[in-house]
Amino acid sequence: MSDRAQFEEQVTCCTLCPRLREHCTAVARERRKAYRDEEYWGRPVPPFGSCDARLLIVGLAPGAHGANRTGRIFTGDRSGDWLYRALHKAGFANQAESRGRDDGLELRDARITCVVKCAPPDNKPLPTEISTCSARFLAGELDKNQGSKVIIALGRLAWDTIQKHLDPEGRRTPFSHGARRTLPDGRLLLASFHPSQQNTFTGRLTEPMFDSVFAEASLQLHKNVEDPLSGNA
Ligand code: SF4
Repeated sequence: MSDRAQFEEQVTCCTLCPRLREHCTAVARERRKAYRDEEYWGRPVPPFGSCDARLLIVGLAPGAHGANRTGRIFTGDRSGDWLYRALHKAGFANQAESRGRDDGLELRDARITCVVKCAPPDNKPLPTEISTCSARFLAGELDKNQGSKVIIALGRLAWDTIQKHLDPEGRRTPFSHGARRTLPDGRLLLASFHPSQQNTFTGRLTEPMFDSVFAEASLQLHKNVEDPLSGNA
């Protein structure tokens, strides 16, 4: 079994957080009316995209009726519509639509993961669940040897968790949309508001605001450089 398949199996079989496991299976059992005829995934959701992708995108957690239903991160809900549209526009995906695991979507030099891999009630994982899951899985995914050069944090929780793992003793850069910092290992960390409906419906996050973060990531990855992204820092 490849390292990637092994990692995905470890994620999907994980039972470390009883409250989250119970919630995901309850949602999968009860189902939303619109998806009554579908079989929900109902398990932890593994990352999507190649392990050696240079762009790593880190969200909060699977959506209860999105990724927890379809089994692919950011797939099957409005947040995913926003994310894959932006990725496609910036050249990181072969299509803008993301409906299910067999829809033909492929990422290009990008990988998507999240801090917590089980859908939490009200989209709010507990601090212990955040530390358990991120130590178990995200910490390894953030390892520089995995190949990422630019990391995009979707939302404050992802931003803070990434800094905690990659710069535990350092001074934290406060979260804001468009914030950026160079991590101690030389990689670039960019921040975006999360494309949740709470942000997109209210206009707190607009498409141009969201697109600008991915355009910046693309620019940084494609420029020819003697800068921190060269990997020598
Ligand atoms: S949130 Fe993470 S650590 Fe907790 S059960 Fe799900 S996969 Fe395991």
